[in-house]
Amino acid sequence: MVPRTTVICSGPPPSAYKSTPNLHYMRGEPPIPPDWTHYISTSFNRLFLNPASGCEGKCRYCYIYDFGHGTHSKLFETPLTDLVSWIENAVEIIKGRNGFLFSIGSSCDPFEEAVVHKTIDLIEAIAPFENPIQVSTKFALGEPLVDRLCSALRYKNQLVLFGTVTTFDHWKRFEPGTRPPDERLDTLQRFGTREVPTCIAIKPYLPSVAGNELQRFLKEIKIRNIGSVLVGSLYANQKLLKRLRSDPFSANSFSEADCHIGTRPPPSKTHDIQAKMGDVNLGNAALEAISFFSEQGVPAFHSAPCVSAYFSQTLCATGVWRYLPHLCVKCNVSCEKRFHDQHFGGGLIFPRKVEGLLAHE
Ligand code: SF4
Repeated sequence: MVPRTTVICSGPPPSAYKSTPNLHYMRGEPPIPPDWTHYISTSFNRLFLNPASGCEGKCRYCYIYDFGHGTHSKLFETPLTDLVSWIENAVEIIKGRNGFLFSIGSSCDPFEEAVVHKTIDLIEAIAPFENPIQVSTKFALGEPLVDRLCSALRYKNQLVLFGTVTTFDHWKRFEPGTRPPDERLDTLQRFGTREVPTCIAIKPYLPSVAGNELQRFLKEIKIRNIGSVLVGSLYANQKLLKRLRSDPFSANSFSEADCHIGTRPPPSKTHDIQAKMGDVNLGNAALEAISFFSEQGVPAFHSAPCVSAYFSQTLCATGVWRYLPHLCVKCNVSCEKRFHDQHFGGGLIFPRKVEGLLAHE
């Protein structure tokens, strides 16, 4: 095991923040139309947008299949003009560069062949809001569609592309319906050459699998000039853990003794997923991997919103340092200091984002 050197913030947010009454705004969350709940959800300064429900990837560790999402994607059929109007009119959704994080791909794969055109239409529709956008995929995209997608973006760093790779050696076993990792990394490279920030997402991090491949990950990151790495948690319930424990490659990482299901729910609220799943506590394994990459000069994170914050050098939209401090790797964005300066110093650099964060007090 590599030594752990990453410093993780701990403890609750300073009570002084909570005792400043005039800066509390109760925005709440916008009501989602009932027939959109498979596709759209909001949580904590984040809007999850899915161009489809379901995924043909059939990843063994994926939770979406237990919640009504199939192995074939079903497109979001509502006209995108209706979605745009809904966003425009939802006062709860903070617009603009310092507003909500728009995340695409929590209950589908946006680059799956049957979905990708809808995804690009969606990005073309929402990019004018200028909110930061994240897309995560285990599929691949060729040059013409990469060009089309990039031309929809409104400013440098508006989009961060996450290419998820959990294993090079055993992907067929764990992710039978996806594209090979090399193709996913080719796609990251294509975006990278167009100056779109990229992240290789080892999510979920399976210690007995990816933990044995860290040098390979590092090599690919360096060769392909990938901008960052995410070492993410596994979301699971007992049924899913049982499935992973029955696989010889992952069984050792998910014994009763070594991990337990925590209280932090996955971000997507679609189909009541939040109430039924939790993040699996992997002990120090993920933190050790983060330290490994950090020591090799690769920006490494535990939470996806931090990756966007890092590339745009702006306050983390979901307040990771504040509300999930065990996931904050104390990167150079220095959110705690920025928030403090903003809140108490009157700097007004991120007024709307701070307002959104305070709404969650
Ligand atoms: S972006 Fe902010 S919350 Fe995230 S790791 Fe960096 S300092 Fe911590």
